[in-house]
Amino acid sequence: MGGGSAGWLTAGVIAAEHCVGSNSAVDGNPQSDGFQLILVESPDISTIGVGEGTWPSMRSTLQKMGISETKFFRECSASFKQGTLFSNWLGGEKQDSPDSYIHPFTVPHSYADTNLAPHWQLIRDQVNFADAVCPQSALAEGHQAPKKISTPEYAFQLNYGYHLDAGKFAELLRAHCVDKLGVTHIKANVEAINSAQNGDIASVVTDSAGVIEGDLFIDCSGSRSLLLGEHYQVPMCSKQKYLFNNTALAAQVPYASPEDPIQSFTLSTAQSAGWIWDIGLPSRRGVGHVYSDAHNTEERARQELLAYIEASAGKQAADQAMVRKIQFDPGHREKFWHKNCVAIGMSAGFIEPLEASALVLVELSAAMIAEQLPANRETMDLVAKRFNDKFLYRWDRIIDFLKLHYILSEREDQYWQDHRDGASIPDHLAEQVALWRHQSPWHRDTAHVDELFPSASFQYVLYGMGFETQRSATERRSEQQAYQRAGNLFQENAKRTQQLQASLPTNRELINKIHTYGLQKI
Ligand SMILES: Cc1cc2nc3c(=O)[nH]c(=O)nc-3n(C[C@H](O)[C@H](O)[C@H](O)COP(=O)(O)OP(=O)(O)OC[C@H]3O[C@@H](n4cnc5c(N)ncnc54)[C@H](O)[C@@H]3O)c2cc1C
Repeated sequence: MGGGSAGWLTAGVIAAEHCVGSNSAVDGNPQSDGFQLILVESPDISTIGVGEGTWPSMRSTLQKMGISETKFFRECSASFKQGTLFSNWLGGEKQDSPDSYIHPFTVPHSYADTNLAPHWQLIRDQVNFADAVCPQSALAEGHQAPKKISTPEYAFQLNYGYHLDAGKFAELLRAHCVDKLGVTHIKANVEAINSAQNGDIASVVTDSAGVIEGDLFIDCSGSRSLLLGEHYQVPMCSKQKYLFNNTALAAQVPYASPEDPIQSFTLSTAQSAGWIWDIGLPSRRGVGHVYSDAHNTEERARQELLAYIEASAGKQAADQAMVRKIQFDPGHREKFWHKNCVAIGMSAGFIEPLEASALVLVELSAAMIAEQLPANRETMDLVAKRFNDKFLYRWDRIIDFLKLHYILSEREDQYWQDHRDGASIPDHLAEQVALWRHQSPWHRDTAHVDELFPSASFQYVLYGMGFETQRSATERRSEQQAYQRAGNLFQENAKRTQQLQASLPTNRELINKIHTYGLQKI
């Protein structure tokens, strides 16, 4: 239920895995897995229309669904996202001279077996962490692409996700799901729910397409969460005590010239009580201010946003900006799968888009349903329990990681001081940070093989924000042994960086070529 990014991604992931039948295929086609997938979407309630940054995981999600990357670039106004560039987050005494650091999508050189962080501590005055261990951040300045036109679809020289137009993305997914994957699309408003004797949802009642029965109902109805929230009354767990932002002002900004450079990174610039995102698509930029309404007025937040637009695109762009306000309660449902209903997307929860973690949760939720689709009603509760445990854990890790960005800031505004207040820091994160003061983040920190954020992500944020790890005696010993090897790895990274800088095109050059010639199919 729901035809936003969550609904169509979920439908596509499940349909691609299971060879869903159309009506006739379910009845007779031996190729079909024997079930039908129906997506019902309101013709009256629009989608949220934001959500323009993805993780690299989106590449394999699209590939598994059988979508051509060339078509995706052409139809979704897509560009490359290679990570996030944080500007002015450290602040403090340095507020007059903007500070910045990058969290790139590529892990440090030789990350599988060598932790370069302790070695970098010795040269931290000469080179920033990201530049020392990974080529990606150096490419940001030249707005360079992570691949060439000769690199096949979905392959890369440097890991990447996407920036995209959310409305066009939902439309591409819809056409693909319906035309290629056998998903049935019904445009109607769900108005009531019929319950079965065991409390399951037996069917949903629509205004114009009759009653739709089903075995499993996936609630992608957006923040109203009509099935899990309204029908089942599964409550929200507010996370506002950790992450205060609850309002966004979003605008679209034209480029001054059609040949202006396209940023390789989502640019995130800290403000008095929040931050401004800046996403470069080929045709326009998406810019928005996320803030806490307990710390800022709408008027002041709007002024900060318009001042940002004016500084980067000129007065005319600021004067003409159509600003849209979106409010949200930061948090997630107490559980996501209840009876025969599972919520995905905004209906499951939402927390500020600082590391664009919403769509990746949609991809992971859909993939888990597709992989573990219950064979019958008896096993559904077991799968539901696994699902709930896994995603509750993931939400906690997302909250930890987002909060980390705030607690190391030296900015003095009340909002930033409140973020540093110990009462607002989750215990798990506080414990990790205490450890990291004496040992740098590493593979040993992660409890699960499929952890959302690798220790590399924590390294990039911590050391980007100027965090110091006092090297332990063990680290110093192993450092001496590995000193020569680490030195070689830093040199190899510097050399590879130069090679890539010399050989990779700019984002705009490559995107123009993709539009004209297309990428090679794998
Ligand atoms: C300011 C902001 C910035 C964001 N930035 C990012 C980002 O950079 N990266 C990222 O990953 N995520 C981001 N997100 C989150 C992302 O936008 C959402 O996770 C994503 O768009 C999925 O939304 P959705 O499909 O769950 O909901 P929606 O888009 O709201 O879709 C809900 C659907 O349900 C349907 N519906 C509702 N009621 C009924 C009914 N009664 N009957 C039938 N159908 C019904 C509607 O018609 C609609 O199709 C951002 C969110 C916000 C608020």
